[in-house]
Amino acid sequence: MKVGILGATGAVGQKFIRLLQGHPWFEIEALGASERSAGKKYKDAANWIEDVQLPLSIKEMTVKNCEPSEFSEVDFVFSGLDSSVAGDIEKAFAIAGIPVISNARNYRQHPTVPLLIPEINPDHTELIKTQTFTEDGSGWIVTNPNCVAVPLSISLKPLHDVFGIEALILTTLQAVSGAGYPGVASLDILGNVIPFISGEEPKVGPETRKLLSTLDGTNLIKPEFPVQATATRVPTINGHMISVTAKLKDKPKNIEEIKRAYMNWQNPISDLDLPFAPKELYKLHQEEKYPQPRLHADWENGMQLHLGRLREAEVFDVSFVAMAHNTIRGAAGGAILNAELLVKKGFLK
Ligand code: NAP
Repeated sequence: MKVGILGATGAVGQKFIRLLQGHPWFEIEALGASERSAGKKYKDAANWIEDVQLPLSIKEMTVKNCEPSEFSEVDFVFSGLDSSVAGDIEKAFAIAGIPVISNARNYRQHPTVPLLIPEINPDHTELIKTQTFTEDGSGWIVTNPNCVAVPLSISLKPLHDVFGIEALILTTLQAVSGAGYPGVASLDILGNVIPFISGEEPKVGPETRKLLSTLDGTNLIKPEFPVQATATRVPTINGHMISVTAKLKDKPKNIEEIKRAYMNWQNPISDLDLPFAPKELYKLHQEEKYPQPRLHADWENGMQLHLGRLREAEVFDVSFVAMAHNTIRGAAGGAILNAELLVKKGFLK
């Protein structure tokens, strides 16, 4: 399939370009960015920050404006657009009959737009059928969650299925790549921790509750647990870590019962053979010093969820640490996996 990338010059856009090299189903056909970049060769428009060579096939491509008419040859687009512009541009593409698989926050809470993690809520793709951008249903939007809601909701899913989540307290330790490029000033973050990330905390609860919703016809029945989140920026490069303490509705007898919830959990997409799906979604680390972003964020091509420090809590019921690669599992890689699921389900053809 021929794909376009909107926001192709940004941090997430570059990750799309890197991850799509050699993809068995998808080939990059068109790249779009702002009018600052449009008309330039990609090599001149983008400040390439990936630690592999800029692919030859991309270097000389001319960056386009993010106008649907300039993307008529693609089957769908991935969007890594800045959220200040993603709302209007993504809507224009959907209206033009070009499906959008987005990383931006603009449509995540729209009642007809799936907020999708294939292993967690693959059935939410049914919501696409209720979208009204085009009469024939050819244009639609699917989003992936914020890079904290991704590891959080994956880490909670087996607990929620078995015990039910009643309340959460969490603190994030978020890598600098999560702020895009150029992101946080080096003098602010080197040797330092910043105990606030603008706009981050209010997204965590609503996105996690939407991801853990059950679909009743075309209505999402959302769980109601409160989330007390503190978002911090730390001087790591990739891999967002979260320290979580959860109160559960049904009380586990002991920590072994909680471990069994993870071990017995059935991955709903394990038989689909999606190229970007990790073989093992959960890596449950036994060593108390693990997981660590620098050591583990790239495991399983950055698509694995790392869990550690699983223990009974003195306040609430269980405490643990969750970690995943923020620009792969939490952004571009997650969006590619979404597209693969949408191919298997017949929405992309
Ligand atoms: P970024 O590095 O700032 O890149 C933003 C992209 O948007 C650039 O390609 C930029 O093009 C383009 N853009 C800006 N204004 C535009 C306009 N008026 N018209 C068309 N294109 C325009 O940001 P990022 O970190 O890649 O994040 C991109 C999106 O993904 C954001 O919505 C972000 O919230 C989301 N996200 C990021 C992460 C992460 O870990 N970084 C994780 C999950 C989700 P120019 O180069 O031409 O300006």
